[in-house]
Amino acid sequence: MYICSENTLWKAIAPPPRSYPILEEDLECDVLVIGGGMCGALVASLLMEQQVDTVLVDKRGIAEGSTAANIGLLQFSNDKSLSACMRTFGEERGLRFYRRCAEALDELERLAAGLADRADFVRRPSLYFASEANHLPALREEYETLKQHGFAVDIWDQDRITEHYAFSKPGAIYYHDDAELDPYRFVHGLLDAARDRGLRIYTHTEVFGQAEDRDALVFHTGRHRIRAKYAVCAAGCEAQQIKRTPNAEVTSTFAIATPSLPAEAFKGWHARSLIWETARPYLYLRTTADNRILVGGLDDSFTLRSECERMLPRKRELLLEAMRRLFPALGEVTAEYAWCGALGSSHDGMPMIGRQAGFPGRCYFMLGYGGNGTVYGMIGAKLIADWIVEGQSPDADLFRFDR
Ligand SMILES: Cc1cc2nc3c(=O)[nH]c(=O)nc-3n(C[C@H](O)[C@H](O)[C@H](O)COP(=O)(O)OP(=O)(O)OC[C@H]3O[C@@H](n4cnc5c(N)ncnc54)[C@H](O)[C@@H]3O)c2cc1C
Repeated sequence: MYICSENTLWKAIAPPPRSYPILEEDLECDVLVIGGGMCGALVASLLMEQQVDTVLVDKRGIAEGSTAANIGLLQFSNDKSLSACMRTFGEERGLRFYRRCAEALDELERLAAGLADRADFVRRPSLYFASEANHLPALREEYETLKQHGFAVDIWDQDRITEHYAFSKPGAIYYHDDAELDPYRFVHGLLDAARDRGLRIYTHTEVFGQAEDRDALVFHTGRHRIRAKYAVCAAGCEAQQIKRTPNAEVTSTFAIATPSLPAEAFKGWHARSLIWETARPYLYLRTTADNRILVGGLDDSFTLRSECERMLPRKRELLLEAMRRLFPALGEVTAEYAWCGALGSSHDGMPMIGRQAGFPGRCYFMLGYGGNGTVYGMIGAKLIADWIVEGQSPDADLFRFDR
């Protein structure tokens, strides 16, 4: 399965990361984490904070799956609005899900603050604009629901948007407490710190199969075996090859990064906010610490590398056009990087975290599928670390595979 094309931004601009060995022996551990992307790094970090004897393996290098494509928007609001979640799951569950997302942002901030390199974690507001005037009633309903439940949001009318941004839109919700980071450096930073606490990390080591042997789970990596009391499958979209989940779908999404731009390029971009919209699929934009603009979107149903790469030049031009429509003064600014990556989604918009039928009870899956994969990864990491360390996890019911 293709996961991410070449020419992604973060890996190209990062300092050379620490490298890790290939597994060359049989091992035993308390927890085996399969996958060294965002989800695997988050759960391994929390386990190492609790001094759990953990091994992490990845069949590629660290953060070279979908995490390399991630443009690093961190938002508590989801592809599915709070109002829609409350209608689908019930008021109490929908609200609990949104609160969990907001707490995940705080937890991500805490983890970034503890790293030698904070991976450019910055709190940012988000502007969520109505793509069409007829989206305004749903936008207003969402604002009222969020406000009523204590989330820090404002509603902006057209005049206020034009005063603060280079573009005009019929209305928007302004979220005060979102954030951004560099996902590639963040994952490397988390794993560097976890390794210093004793995490054993092996890259270019693929897990092929699993069996149970008395009190242990046994995983095969081709030439070697890993015996573990617990396992966490954080294999991203490729978890579908380990166990296909009928409630999951994998599609593709695209992104570009401009070269670093002079300060005047950001006139008409209030507070360097994150920007997204009510249309589906939506366009999403942010700026970076080195003064680039990142634009993502134009999701498509392709999943083959050849198709994505064939579509990439056209999608790159469409993303640039969309950026110039919002910020006409950018003129002929081009894309220095353009890439596409696999994006998982679930049938109801929530991630899937927990046990799956057909696998032993001590085998946990964390599928942070959706545009909010980092926040979902944080929720999953907390849930699974709580299960393993405390034997229980408060909001596990929300994310069950069989919900
Ligand atoms: C263009 C684009 C933009 C995005 N923007 C955002 C954004 O702004 N904000 C956001 O929150 N999310 C965003 N996402 C989604 C985000 O990238 C993902 O949700 C998240 O990074 C996935 O992390 P992961 O750890 O689940 O998966 P991955 O990063 O894919 O990691 C899984 C790892 O498991 C390894 N693996 C798989 N199978 C095996 C095996 N059998 N044995 C050993 N290792 C294995 C893989 O090599 C891989 O490294 C974006 C995605 C794309 C494509």
